[in-house]
Amino acid sequence: MPALHKIEEMQTPAAIATETSLDPKDWKELKNLAHEMVDDMFAYLEDIRKEPAWRAPSLFAKEKLREPLPVKSTAAEEVYQEFKENILPFNLNNIHPRFWAWVQGGGTPLGMIADMLASGMNPNMAIGNHIPMYVELQVIDWCKQIFGFPAEASGIIQSGASMANITALIVARNTFLDNCKQRGLTALGKQLIVYGSEETHNCLLKAVEVIGLGSEHFRKIKVNDDYTINIKSLLEQIEADKINGFVPFCIVGNAGTVNTGAIDDLSLLTAIAKKEKMWFHVDGAFGAIPKILPEFEKQLKGLEDADSLSFDFHKWMYMNYEAACVLIRNKTAHKKAFSTPVNYLMQHDRGLSSGPESFSDYGMELSRGFKSLKIWMSLKTYGLDKYRELVRQNLEQVKYLVELIDENKELELMAPAELNIACFRFNPFSKHHKDLNSLNKEILMRLHEQGIATPSYTILKGNYVIRVAHTNHRTRKEDFDILINGVIRLGHAIINEDV
Ligand SMILES: *Cc1c(COP(=O)(O)O)cnc(C)c1O
Repeated sequence: MPALHKIEEMQTPAAIATETSLDPKDWKELKNLAHEMVDDMFAYLEDIRKEPAWRAPSLFAKEKLREPLPVKSTAAEEVYQEFKENILPFNLNNIHPRFWAWVQGGGTPLGMIADMLASGMNPNMAIGNHIPMYVELQVIDWCKQIFGFPAEASGIIQSGASMANITALIVARNTFLDNCKQRGLTALGKQLIVYGSEETHNCLLKAVEVIGLGSEHFRKIKVNDDYTINIKSLLEQIEADKINGFVPFCIVGNAGTVNTGAIDDLSLLTAIAKKEKMWFHVDGAFGAIPKILPEFEKQLKGLEDADSLSFDFHKWMYMNYEAACVLIRNKTAHKKAFSTPVNYLMQHDRGLSSGPESFSDYGMELSRGFKSLKIWMSLKTYGLDKYRELVRQNLEQVKYLVELIDENKELELMAPAELNIACFRFNPFSKHHKDLNSLNKEILMRLHEQGIATPSYTILKGNYVIRVAHTNHRTRKEDFDILINGVIRLGHAIINEDV
């Protein structure tokens, strides 16, 4: 390698340079402010347990965010004060120990710092011979090991499982419609069909719409009592579609449905996909993560045989938003779907344009941030064993919550809680309360508005339920005591107001 050329003697000293830039004039001043910000954010995270679970954004704070476009400068200290007063207090608060809404992780202080380092380096993760590219490749290799994918498989870090799922479906579609990149969807002259249970996440329906297959061609297969896909219905639907001249091409298996955490029979789905020469994709947004636990060997069997798998780091791996990954077994198919040679992105043998293959050949995005640094740092710092411990802790805490529900005659568990999601409702059977749906919705509103806890909701078989989706590393068992006491107290208060 040639020696690096010395260029200091050609540089103008900062004090006499005439050009402007966005670097601070006074580095020390911004550095002091930065230290204050770090201290404030650490205090914020350290003390979050003492805060209400949620606080509605104040009118004032909302009004402050309708100001005219700034044309002149404002001191960074002043802008930071406004952040502290009007933005920070009204967070979504998924960092709070009693946040269990939707399926959202809480991030970590280490992840926050890693994001700062990544942002300081600020590489564009599209192309080039620089170490951040190798960090992402390292992370993808680790993912293959975690989920039992072969070393030759490919993958790419994505913003979330929605993007990971659509990426996988594009590869699947293009594999079946070999010349669809040139000729579009009419290349086959027949309609491609995707199958998944009716509990499949909406982002897969969106994907099917966006990639031009049409939502009618996502067959929503009915589920069993435990909300897993009904295999018999799936097979019947595939047969019927074949008879009607459609082309069944992809099965989506759920490793953890969003409503209840149900895990489909993935090995059976793999076998069906193989037999029918279809693509098998697994949406494992959060439910693929227990693959790190030996006790899930049986339940998640088959996942390692999928053609593609997507999962999030920002849910059950507790990493800071955003971070997800898609793995694709067939690297050639993956690259073929997204790479189009262009002059200005040519790979060179030497210099900055050499190095690993462009990530833009494996996904839609060209410019991408250095999301993989926080993943690399978190995995290295904590090690897989720490994640095993935390995922087990979450599973045990959900069992504890289910015990609390079972012990209480006025609470009803509304779906099996096999994984990390518990759906339940308040039901004072004896009191013949007329509308349990509105009663439980009102309980949930008050849980939020009083800052007690933030579970969310769903509708199961027409019933409005309170839904706890647990991917929170800060929760303690006592937090579930607080939730249950709150539900019962509020339930009685609402009934008493009604009579
Ligand atoms: C959250 C979720 C998604 C979407 O993932 P994002 O990271 O929010 O894009 C997809 N599938 C399931 C099962 C999910 O829980």
